[in-house]
Amino acid sequence: MKIHEILLETITFNACSVDKRDDGTTHITPHNWRKVKEKCWVCKGTSKDKYDPKYDCDMCYGTGKIDNEACDGPQMRMSNMSAGEVIRDILDQEFDYSGMVEKTDMPKLRQKLIRMINVEKDREKLTRDPTDEQKTRVTRKDGVSTIGKGPQMIGFGRNDSQTKQLAAQLLKVVEYAAKHDLVLSWG
Ligand SMILES: [Zn+2]
Repeated sequence: MKIHEILLETITFNACSVDKRDDGTTHITPHNWRKVKEKCWVCKGTSKDKYDPKYDCDMCYGTGKIDNEACDGPQMRMSNMSAGEVIRDILDQEFDYSGMVEKTDMPKLRQKLIRMINVEKDREKLTRDPTDEQKTRVTRKDGVSTIGKGPQMIGFGRNDSQTKQLAAQLLKVVEYAAKHDLVLSWG
């Protein structure tokens, strides 16, 4: 995966129901997930082409509406990179593009987030200085090592108050999940 993809791809944390079926598969669905029709954002619902109203809008095929997905409850959406830090440093799990926190682990997670919001020291692990560094890349080929320029790594950083906001938003999702007997899931 290329660096810009890591920065642009996002992962959403939300409250989900878990359906463990007899065939051994597990289905995780955001709370009250449903398909919805929304006003087309290209033509703003007029159904006509933005530049030449003689033609139908390409986005919605002249219907003025597009299909979208909706679910209930708070969410937290972030870059894969930040989500990776949340999964590793808050949820204590190995990074994966999707996963969940079991119901039995939710009370402990709730306590941890409340502590993070209240205790500055607990936030230090997730606070990052902005970085902009050129990593050195070592390539090994036929037993010969070459040292060259690696990818430019840009980290946006996260200050203490942003870390606090992150914990507060995740806590909202966790509390919503607990209230509705759901799990915290990401994907
Ligand atoms: Zn349209």
